[in-house]
Amino acid sequence: MTHIHIIGGGLAGLSAAVELTARARVTVYEAGPACGGRARSYFDKALGARIDNGNHLLLSANEGVFRYLGLIGAHDSLVGPGAPVFPWFDLSANLAWTLRLSKGKAPFWALPGGARVPGMKFSELRSLFNLLRANDETRVSDCLVPGMLSERLLEPFAVSALNTSCEEGSAKLLANVVRQSLALGGKACCPWYPREGLSESFVDPAVAHIRTMRGEVRNGARVSALEVGPVGRVTGLRLGDERIALGPEDAVILAVPAPVAQSLAAPHIVGFTAPDQFESIVNVHFCLPQTLQARGVVGDTGFVGVVGGITEWVFIKDRILSVTVSAANRYNEISNDYLIETIWREVCQVVGPVLMTALPEQAPPVRLVREKRATFAATPEQDRLRPKAATPLSNLALAGDWVQTGLPSTIEGAIRSGVQATRALGLVV
Ligand SMILES: Cc1cc2nc3c(=O)[nH]c(=O)nc-3n(C[C@H](O)[C@H](O)[C@H](O)COP(=O)(O)OP(=O)(O)OC[C@H]3O[C@@H](n4cnc5c(N)ncnc54)[C@H](O)[C@@H]3O)c2cc1C
Repeated sequence: MTHIHIIGGGLAGLSAAVELTARARVTVYEAGPACGGRARSYFDKALGARIDNGNHLLLSANEGVFRYLGLIGAHDSLVGPGAPVFPWFDLSANLAWTLRLSKGKAPFWALPGGARVPGMKFSELRSLFNLLRANDETRVSDCLVPGMLSERLLEPFAVSALNTSCEEGSAKLLANVVRQSLALGGKACCPWYPREGLSESFVDPAVAHIRTMRGEVRNGARVSALEVGPVGRVTGLRLGDERIALGPEDAVILAVPAPVAQSLAAPHIVGFTAPDQFESIVNVHFCLPQTLQARGVVGDTGFVGVVGGITEWVFIKDRILSVTVSAANRYNEISNDYLIETIWREVCQVVGPVLMTALPEQAPPVRLVREKRATFAATPEQDRLRPKAATPLSNLALAGDWVQTGLPSTIEGAIRSGVQATRALGLVV
């Protein structure tokens, strides 16, 4: 039986493994003690609570995500309001509003009297047409018409989707996200997130599924080198002192982060390129003594989008108030203490009025996580460095959110890249 060796147990590697378990023998090699990579949950001893490394928001349009969850039997593990509803808060204007997208493609939501962005003009929708016409060089900021729609919706949407500033971000990548979400209408834009945690939704059920199908998942298994034979195929893997020989029908999917792929693949592939600039994401998890409950629309969604400060999203889950800040390289020199103090003040302003319990003036126990290489910088220059899944080595394919998928670095991109890799090897049509 063909043996497929998958290097990397993030969502790209797990997605490839899940596709293949029914057709081939599969082994996943994951360097870390658990799978999940940049989308994982863990127990934080200091907080005494289980948290995700970072809050992840998905949309109903994420076809790859829902197909994957269906295959691993975790379809019901996501929660959301079941409608395209987004509560927002502008810190500088101390203003709360709710964006309710129309279900169909026509943007009735943007008409006066609709549940639209306060202060926006209908004509500002021109920004979306500009985006959809963008070429490979265009930046997001070149497309946005100045006004409240940009300030209070399109800019924060772009920064969250690309994890890159609008001045630098690729309009083409954002346009692909818009084509597969907003342009399809509100039905495609219902927000979803894991009920329990990222690992409970995306990782643990996938590992269990792979093992049930007699696949193998090896943790603490760091691949240190690929061996390539004279006929242009991978013939072996090195894991420190251990050598794994590949049979003539066997293949490899390299599903590691871009810098690791560069070090493993570049010695064997002339002209190999991969993104080499990254953006960080800061997540701040505040742990309260009691379970939190919010009133009104924030109670329905479980999150709020925020503009006019450092905070960009606040998620409310059990005892945890979690804040996400994207494109966070700009805060590299800012101390954790300053960020925590400022963000806590902002959180109190945003969710204090809608929570059933009063928030303390001083920040409660907190964990600040800076994911330094959260995603590649989604600029036109970096996008050009993304390789295709197929490689010149006949039995090696690439997967990962940094491989050419047409999407920025997202769970949807990572999961699709795993499927792409199986197709590149001709294993799945
Ligand atoms: C804080 C944060 C917030 C995010 N928010 C969102 C969001 O809201 N929505 C969204 O869609 N996306 C979001 N993302 C992006 C999303 O998490 C990633 O795009 C996705 O998880 C990448 O998966 P991957 O499998 O491509 O890479 P990774 O998750 O990096 O997986 C690669 C795996 O390879 C392993 N590995 C590395 N070297 C070796 C080796 N030599 N041998 C064996 N294994 C190795 C690593 O340990 C890792 O497990 C966010 C990311 C972060 C960090």
